[in-house]
Order: sequence, then C-alpha cells, then structure tokens
Amino acid sequence: MKRIFGKPLVTQEHMRTRIKELGRQISEDYVDRPNLLLIGIMKGAFLFYADLVRAIRLPLQVDFLVVSSYEGRSTTSGKIKMITELTEDIKGRDILLVEDIVDSGLTVQYLRKILGKKKPRSLAVCALLSKPERRKVEVAVEYIGFEIPNKFVVGYGLDYQQKYRNLPYLAVLDDADMESGQ
Ligand code: 5GP
Repeated sequence: MKRIFGKPLVTQEHMRTRIKELGRQISEDYVDRPNLLLIGIMKGAFLFYADLVRAIRLPLQVDFLVVSSYEGRSTTSGKIKMITELTEDIKGRDILLVEDIVDSGLTVQYLRKILGKKKPRSLAVCALLSKPERRKVEVAVEYIGFEIPNKFVVGYGLDYQQKYRNLPYLAVLDDADMESGQ
C-alpha cells in the first residue's frame, strides 16, 4: 500500500466503541433465543463480522455467504450473485445477516427474499454502514453501525477492486485514488 488515506471517516477507536454497543444491543434483544445464527456476507463484512460476534454475549453459531454485486467497479450494477451456499439449515432459526454496507438496498432485498423462502423463525439485518441517500429500494435494517454520506468508502473490510480491505479504519476513496489505480 503506497499511501495511507488522509482522514479516516470512521476511526478504529470509534468503530470499536460502536461495535461494542451493537453487541450489547443484540445480546439483549436475543437473550431468550438459543438458536441464533449469524450469517456474514463476504467479503466486505469479514472484519466487522469477526468483531461483532466477539461483542455478542450469547451462544451463537456462524455461517457465511459470499455475494458479489459490484464486480470491481465503484458504482452499483444492481446485479447480485450468490457465489457460495450456506452450510447450516436456517429453517426455524433466528437469523441475523451481517453486512458491510447498505447502499441501494438491493443486496439486502435479494438476500431477505432468498433466505426468507427457507422459513427461518426470524430474519434481521445488521450493517456496519448505511448510505441512506443512495437507497433505491426500501429495506428493513434492524441494526446500523454508522450512517455515512454518499461517498465511496474503503477499509475495514471494504474494497476498491479487491484492495484496501486491510485498512484498519474507514476512509473515503476519492477520484484521484481511482484514477491512479493505487
Ligand atoms: P447495495 O446492494 O445495497 O447497493 O450494495 C451493497 C454492497 O455494495 C455492499 O455489500 C458493498 O460490497 C458494496 N458497496 C456499496 N457502497 C460501497 C462503498 O462505499 N464502498 C465499498 N467498498 N463497497 C460498497
């Protein structure tokens, strides 16, 4: 990585504090439900997911789905592809989908539809980030870490052309970064 981006939009510190709060909230909301399964939507949610599960003080199970919607570009194509399948049966279970960011809302809408058909007991969504200005469809997102402005962000799991996922904070990728292909 040639350069570290200027000002973080969300610092590591802020991220840590907010994820602890989300974990506490989810632990309270699901306290009477022994069958909680957290499904991490990869790749973008991998760091958030790892931090969130450790902030939840309940026995839970983990599963993952690899979904692709952007194919390396920084604007949405609206085409969503499920690249992997779940390994757990979700019928009758409490499911919490863990997303990196809700942008147009199309991915969450698609996943709610597909997974809803498998008859879980409940299905909720927890997203680290939300860009409300960009919504194309109305979707329910029960837990949101941060609402952010309409900017393309990278870091903390989020990529630009598969890079920058390892930045430990969230930063805005500007046009100069995209043009230089860094
Ligand atoms: P949606 O279907 O809500 O438009 O988009 C969801 C997916 O688009 C996210 O899971 C994420 O992978 C990608 N995405 C949306 N906005 C951004 C962004 O600002 N930065 C990055 N890196 N990915 C984004």
